[in-house]
Amino acid sequence: MKILVVEDEIKLNKGLKTALERKGFAVDSALDGEEGERLAKWNEYDIVILDIMLPKRDGIEVCRNLREVGKRMPILMLTAKDTTEDTITGLETGADDYLGKPFSFDELVARVRSLLRRPPLTSQDVFDWEDLVLDTRSQKVTIKDRELNLTLREYGLLEYLLRNRDKVLTRDDLLEHVWDRNHDTLSNVVDVHMKNLRRKLPKRYAELIKTIRGKGFRLV
Ligand code: CA
Repeated sequence: MKILVVEDEIKLNKGLKTALERKGFAVDSALDGEEGERLAKWNEYDIVILDIMLPKRDGIEVCRNLREVGKRMPILMLTAKDTTEDTITGLETGADDYLGKPFSFDELVARVRSLLRRPPLTSQDVFDWEDLVLDTRSQKVTIKDRELNLTLREYGLLEYLLRNRDKVLTRDDLLEHVWDRNHDTLSNVVDVHMKNLRRKLPKRYAELIKTIRGKGFRLV
């Protein structure tokens, strides 16, 4: 696995490079935002460790620019200013995680490993919803390791809701994505299956699937 470290404090930059190499990673490093962005654009890194306060170009801008050109590798932001505002800005511009300075090296390695285990953004196949986990590979839904016994349609509805969290989904959307083309469009088939799905979910989950009157459904 190849890592890019973008950090302008020379001692920390060298320390990170040496320590990560000792853990078996290949490491390139840059001392400012411009160089970091250039390296990240022209090479394939498995993860980028990016300081926020950098000369020439700050980490937030570098992160935004990388996402804009379609770079999808995980980005771990380092910040000295451990304020919520910085964290939110960083995550909004496409960073995957952040770590406030000072941090322990063990903590950094743990974060790096966890980011490397994550599936790429484009092909998410496991969805978490509090304690509920929907795994599209096994088509199983579990809550704290207890499997929910859903029919194919109920499973399909739940998966589509999870893929479209916070969006209002019309009955037509759901028919189009969860049912095959031979469904009976005149029946209240969506409502019937939605009702069954809600009944099988623990109450606190069922309550988060809202019925939007005259429009459809929304998972909040
Ligand atoms: Ca810095």
